[in-house]
Amino acid sequence: MVSLGEPAWRAKQLAEAVYVQRVTDLSEITTLPKALRGKLANEGWQIGRPAIAQVFQSVDGTERYLVTCGAGQASVQTVETVWMPEGDEGESGDGTDSATSQAKTSCAPDLDSESGDSTGPGRQRATICVSSQVGCAVNCQFCLTAKLGLQRNLTPGEIAGQVIAVLDRHKVEVGRDRVNLVFMGMGEPFLNYDSFMAAVRLLVVEAGLSPQRMTVSTSGIVPGIERFAQEPKELRPKLAISLNAPNDEIRQQLMPINHKWNIESVVDAVQQVKLRPRERITFEYVLLGGITDQPQHAREVARLVRRTGLPAKVNLIAWNPGPGIPYSMPQPGAVEAFRQTLVDAGIPAYLRRPRGRDIYAACGQLKRTVEG
Ligand code: SF4
Repeated sequence: MVSLGEPAWRAKQLAEAVYVQRVTDLSEITTLPKALRGKLANEGWQIGRPAIAQVFQSVDGTERYLVTCGAGQASVQTVETVWMPEGDEGESGDGTDSATSQAKTSCAPDLDSESGDSTGPGRQRATICVSSQVGCAVNCQFCLTAKLGLQRNLTPGEIAGQVIAVLDRHKVEVGRDRVNLVFMGMGEPFLNYDSFMAAVRLLVVEAGLSPQRMTVSTSGIVPGIERFAQEPKELRPKLAISLNAPNDEIRQQLMPINHKWNIESVVDAVQQVKLRPRERITFEYVLLGGITDQPQHAREVARLVRRTGLPAKVNLIAWNPGPGIPYSMPQPGAVEAFRQTLVDAGIPAYLRRPRGRDIYAACGQLKRTVEG
């Protein structure tokens, strides 16, 4: 705005229009003078919000979107964003809920006790899973997104824009409806750190979302965790570590990134994060049949989590199958036994009910099925 000879406060009006009113065309920004809107358009400016190009609807209410990024550029690409009504069964909470919720096997932790707000009739409650890169370079062996390799980083606008597009689709009213964000879609957010945190700032400062209702998951990028530990609390989402194995030996087979940063170095970095009162670190754990779901693995995970000394919880995810991925789902009995072992050891543990498996929207299943 300043470079156009306008006062700087015009930028706030522009941001309000894009992130709060969610307009998609400059001509709709009625808070800006018509002449200025015309000038912006003549100079080639456009809002360029990522657009929902295709919607896949699950029987359980989950929606998976192909979202086009890079409008106006030579190559338009799609990423995937997921809307899960009623939360996502464990990711939305930080595990600080009542002891009874620890015993649930399919639970949407009650955030009311944490935040003091409530979800009344007619109010929406949902979780949006957001992508940070097109594809991913981390190459976790159980993940379909890894098959794409890394194609490119998303910009801050493309990351925040996915959220705005989905909020707009569901007519979410920030402050009334209770929406959580999880940065667990395609990509490793900490390998696109600056854009990821810039997107968080846009969503907090401009769109009015709470960072305490956001969780970022990392495969264990130690320099990223160390930077994250320095972020101010007003802007820092909660942290989840994608652990997925009880020890380094198994983890490096499943997640080659473990060769670079082993479990101990990841835990050392996580210990630098200054947690809010009652905040917990989440350890995500994908149960692969016969590989990571055995009783001795559960005991190892319990010891590992206890050794960290961190206030922590474990989110268990029964592996969701994908074509070309050579693993099998755990037996239902094994999943519950695993959770019970952790709970018996005093570790809050939750099972995340698979959401949108029928539309390939569940954890580890995101892979573009249609090219833009
Ligand atoms: S699980 Fe996450 S970090 Fe690992 S390959 Fe898939 S998208 Fe990348």
